[in-house]
Amino acid sequence: MTLANYAAPGTLEEATALLRQGSCTILAGGTDLMVQSKAGKVRFGDTLVNISRVAGLGGIAVEGATLRIGALATIAELRESDVVRDRLPALWRAADKFASGQIRNASTVGGNICNASPAGDTLPPLIAHGALVELATRPNGKVERRAMPLEGFITGPGKTRREAHDLVSAVLVPLPQADTIGLFEKFGTRPALDISTVSVAFVGRARKGTVSEARLVFGAVAPTPLRGAATEAAIIGKFLDEATIAKAADTAAQEVKPISDVRATAWYRREMIHNLTRSVLTDVARR
Ligand SMILES: Cc1cc2nc3c(=O)[nH]c(=O)nc-3n(C[C@H](O)[C@H](O)[C@H](O)COP(=O)(O)OP(=O)(O)OC[C@H]3O[C@@H](n4cnc5c(N)ncnc54)[C@H](O)[C@@H]3O)c2cc1C
Repeated sequence: MTLANYAAPGTLEEATALLRQGSCTILAGGTDLMVQSKAGKVRFGDTLVNISRVAGLGGIAVEGATLRIGALATIAELRESDVVRDRLPALWRAADKFASGQIRNASTVGGNICNASPAGDTLPPLIAHGALVELATRPNGKVERRAMPLEGFITGPGKTRREAHDLVSAVLVPLPQADTIGLFEKFGTRPALDISTVSVAFVGRARKGTVSEARLVFGAVAPTPLRGAATEAAIIGKFLDEATIAKAADTAAQEVKPISDVRATAWYRREMIHNLTRSVLTDVARR
């Protein structure tokens, strides 16, 4: 394939100005994009914009009551972050279960979001935490930023509400109260280096086995990560005894909308969602 132009901007101003010219493809870690390009699934635009040198797009920092995770923060950086491990354990666990060291070093959070795979591992915990996506664009010579909920940002496999001239600049995660429980379970066909066949993230609060708040998000069982509204309703305000957990696991298996593909059949995915939901809620009941 011949590439018309390649650009490696050093500032957000330069990067967003390039995107305004149109027909650009953004490259971050390349762990999805290059694989998809080699497989003929993606055709680059006129300019390949490598954003990996853009200043200020990386890092993980507490800003008041929010954790700001730069779009170029890598999965390895999430995994090494004390604040992610201590305050956002569901996200930390997703980073810990993500691929191999080599892939974690290159993979960015912004790339995981924009690739918009139903199986993207950071998505269920980030949505369960009520994260916002920050987008940067340069309509009139000046960079403008806006934020929107990650829940709803992804509209289908590989599809988001991002406009072609937008760069995802960060993900903003509200820091939860200290007694918040965060859990993430992923099942793949191999123990290592595997994309999720199904995943479950839980973020919520419980006191002596009774749930006061719950956000459950399922991965790889619908065209987008799926909020488990019916399962949440089945546990909020309830004491998590065996019967309640079993009923909630049944509800979860019913509300997901899996397909059969190379990784698993729809039937198997429902079974795994049932089992992972039961496992996660049993863990919540023990806290
Ligand atoms: C062997 C292997 C194992 C993997 N295992 C896992 C796994 O366990 N879990 C998992 O979730 N994923 C996994 N992946 C997929 C991939 O590593 C992740 O989705 C990764 O986070 C993508 O980030 P990246 O920086 O490499 O994105 P890139 O490949 O550079 O980009 C991905 C897409 O996002 C767009 N993009 C990137 N950054 C931005 C931005 N800031 N603004 C706007 N658009 C942007 C690109 O244009 C492209 O469309 C695996 C991949 C491989 C090859």
